[in-house]
Amino acid sequence: MSEAASYSVRDGIAVVTLDNPPVNGLGSVLRPGIMAGIQKAAGDPAVKALVLIGSAKAFSGGADIREFNTPKMLVPPSLPEINDAQDGFPKPMIAAIGGFALGGGLELALGCHYRVALPKSQLGLPEVKLGLLPGSGGTQRLPRVVGAQKGIEMMTTGNPVAAESALKLGLVDEIVQGDLLEGALAFARKLVSEKKGPRRIRDMTVKVEGGPKQFFAAARAEVGKRARGFPAPLEIVACVEAAATKPFDEGRKEERRRFQTLVEGNESMALRHMFFAERQTSKIPDVPDDTPLRKIASAAVIGAGTMGGGIAMNFANAGIPVSIMDMTQDAVDKGVAKIKANYAATVSKGRLKQDEMDKRMALIKPTAKLEDARDADIVVEAVFERMDVKQETFRKLDAIMKPGAILATNTSTLDVDAIAAVTRRPQDVIGTHFFSPANVMRLLEVVRGKRTAKDVLATTMKLGKTLKKVPVVSGVCDGFIGNRMVEKYGQQSLFLVDEGCSPQHVDAAAYQWGMAMGPLTMGDMAGLDIGWEIRKRRYQERPNFKYSKVADRICEQGRYGQKTGKGWYKYNLPDRKPIPDPEVDKIISQYRAENKIQTRAISDEEIVERLIYALVNEGAYILEEGIALRASDIDMVYLTGYGFPAYRGGPMFYADTVGLDKVLASIEKFQQGYMGEVWKPAPLLVKLAKAGKRFNG
Ligand code: NAD
Repeated sequence: MSEAASYSVRDGIAVVTLDNPPVNGLGSVLRPGIMAGIQKAAGDPAVKALVLIGSAKAFSGGADIREFNTPKMLVPPSLPEINDAQDGFPKPMIAAIGGFALGGGLELALGCHYRVALPKSQLGLPEVKLGLLPGSGGTQRLPRVVGAQKGIEMMTTGNPVAAESALKLGLVDEIVQGDLLEGALAFARKLVSEKKGPRRIRDMTVKVEGGPKQFFAAARAEVGKRARGFPAPLEIVACVEAAATKPFDEGRKEERRRFQTLVEGNESMALRHMFFAERQTSKIPDVPDDTPLRKIASAAVIGAGTMGGGIAMNFANAGIPVSIMDMTQDAVDKGVAKIKANYAATVSKGRLKQDEMDKRMALIKPTAKLEDARDADIVVEAVFERMDVKQETFRKLDAIMKPGAILATNTSTLDVDAIAAVTRRPQDVIGTHFFSPANVMRLLEVVRGKRTAKDVLATTMKLGKTLKKVPVVSGVCDGFIGNRMVEKYGQQSLFLVDEGCSPQHVDAAAYQWGMAMGPLTMGDMAGLDIGWEIRKRRYQERPNFKYSKVADRICEQGRYGQKTGKGWYKYNLPDRKPIPDPEVDKIISQYRAENKIQTRAISDEEIVERLIYALVNEGAYILEEGIALRASDIDMVYLTGYGFPAYRGGPMFYADTVGLDKVLASIEKFQQGYMGEVWKPAPLLVKLAKAGKRFNG
């Protein structure tokens, strides 16, 4: 046996216990132990059955991520070899599933002949979330148990099913109330007394609704539509088809082959990159992990508008009492009513219990007096985006807040150092840039001012995690990481419209490539007036800044997007589906004519390149200036804040996969085209491209 698995025999039933905390990852220390247990039990005539059990929290979470990309992954036996031994085991083998059985963990359980589970257990094959498919028989065994339809659904979404549903699907045979091991032993004894032998899943057939030909054609069409450019879901469908139409061993071979292709593909590499990128963001080179943190047991939010309300909800959701202040009682009441309506909507959808909502509401203390923020450990300012208003607020906060409190601003574009400068404690000032809706979006840009103290930064990063956000450090600059890049993306989307694309063409190309939505639909959602305000400021600040004024024309008509029912599209509110509008086509044609712009046909490929490389090039400047700590942080910002497809790995990783020399060549080509002067290749991009290097190491 190995140290991570133990073997015992109870009344003629062998028990192999998996003990590899925290999640019983099937690493190199555990696999040999499982195999040894199976062999020992097979060879002992006194043993009548075998129970494979983990802890009450985890049967197994699958492959051990700590061993990813290390030689330990190859230490024998492999999981498929264990599965073969399970199939060859001559007596009943039962998986006793406490907590979760995920990925390889469920494949191990599917290698068993029977499964019992605790009421709260979760079973799933989430490999698709890393761009993969279950590579150890999962695609062959799961559909043999739950049918082709459900198997495809479970594996292409990656979402687990709860024990109760698993029981209905036949994926577990019994739900154990009480002690899992005792329940599993009782189940085993029953099988033995009823003389039930092994029940191998490989000997079963896959249930397919209707004929396989029709069924799989329909499945491909449906899954393909959802997946767009992401290959894993369609590969899973192909494996299930093999399970339904070919002998088991051939299906296994096909699964292996398709798994291998996916492992080596860009999409899975991108998803694994993002997985590790998320764990990287909180590592700050000059701030040690053991930096002492300040205590955050209470909070205050100033400004009860769109953002302030959402931010206050974040604190309440995390169990932190929070006061919320606005200029008048009326404004506070409106803000709190909105919070309440937000929670109530979640309750009515069944995603939050009423008493939990009541608890959270009780943590939120409305007030019209700034002084009520006095005792908070952190105060987050979310007032109007005007420097004079922000500075005035910070002067007052400086006067009233207790020493050591963190003073945070939610500004999107203003200089955090200039805000800090009006206080006597700039070391305690930091930016916390939440994204809208603040109670939903995972991204939190943590803006480190020139004088922000290290412990303030470390505490705010930790707080970000407590609030269930992905905190990413940004230096001070206009727009920080995300919005500074998106400005270039928006700029290109307008130039594309100038040059001949319809808004729906630009959006469709971006969507089809994988963005959650196209840039013009995104503008309509965020409100076109916001960008208009920024552009008006830019026209003053940077008179040479190039922008298409076509967006201004749209705004001049009072078309601010979804909020006014008209923007780049029209809307039948409350339905938010964008409908192309001939009025908009007219505005665009007129603009082109007035400016004598020669239109031309533009390919989807060019649309995507211009949009994405605009992000990449600005990202390279941001990296070079040290605004972002690492390329993967920029990728994380785009994934969690801007609907960038995870399987592309973020803009910087995507550029790496294309090859920086190719990206640079395209940018040089764009320099020759319409408004080419806005393309100035970032020196870092040029340097890395010439050296054949990548942004992400
Ligand atoms: P908003 O207009 O919805 O809310 C601002 C609130 O602040 C209003 O209720 C107003 O009455 C209150 N307020 C103004 N001056 C005040 C003062 N001196 N004291 C107390 N309350 C005061 O604006 P918003 O969209 O919530 O934006 C707030 C901040 O968040 C801005 O800095 C904005 O740039 C930033 N931000 C906004 C978004 C977004 O998408 N809306 C996203 C990220 C960051």
